[in-house]
Amino acid sequence: MKRPILAANWKMNNGPSAAKAFMEAFLAGYSPRSDRTVIIFPPAVALTTVATSSANRKDVLAGVQNIHWAEKGAFTGEISATMAKDAGAKVVLVGHSERRHVFGETDAQCAKKCQAASRAGLSFMLCVGETMQQREAGETERLVTHQLREGVSQTQNLISADFILAYEPVWAIGTGLTASAGDASAVHTVLRSELRQMIGTRADEIPILYGGSVSPSNAAGLLAAPEVDGLLVGGASVEPSSWLAIAQA
Ligand code: PEP
Repeated sequence: MKRPILAANWKMNNGPSAAKAFMEAFLAGYSPRSDRTVIIFPPAVALTTVATSSANRKDVLAGVQNIHWAEKGAFTGEISATMAKDAGAKVVLVGHSERRHVFGETDAQCAKKCQAASRAGLSFMLCVGETMQQREAGETERLVTHQLREGVSQTQNLISADFILAYEPVWAIGTGLTASAGDASAVHTVLRSELRQMIGTRADEIPILYGGSVSPSNAAGLLAAPEVDGLLVGGASVEPSSWLAIAQA
């Protein structure tokens, strides 16, 4: 396995004060590690707090949950990739299932966000995943490979070690249902082979993370599965103690 990436998506939890307390508690228990990378995606208002708290830790990075593709302008409520970078983000999360299914984000918008992140010199983590209905209809492979190709359609020639892919089955996010290690591996293998078709042997450098109801009790098993290069964690990443257990899995 590649150097694993353990990523915490706090969603709309932990504002600046809670983020500061979280980071103090987490970093006190998490000694520097050269064998894995932790990424924390706080709400944008707590980005600087997380980035500042982890400034002297090369193995702990701050990320942003969402960006707008434009550089600046009349887009009330949005932030750009360069603003997120200025606030301390190193990685942009793109196409999370809540962005796609709650806010109606499209593959075309994901592609523009990947381009914007890349232009700003940030890594980007593209999320793909099927609904239960799509899984039951046997559409998982077609859908996730389509989301991958569309999401990076304009950035394919730029894909490098700065690109991270996350397989997050929609039916497993926040539901307590987790893909088995075997199911996750099977989809990751499909994604790896699609990446090989797209970019040849460089595909083997791209980390593919699994996300969906990861907890301290299932993290190690998922992380040990073939082709699973890390975990993207929502609910169980909001509290420092359960996140610490997962980050050390
Ligand atoms: C997520 O938000 O990316 C996620 C995987 O959530 P949860 O771990 O709560 O299922």
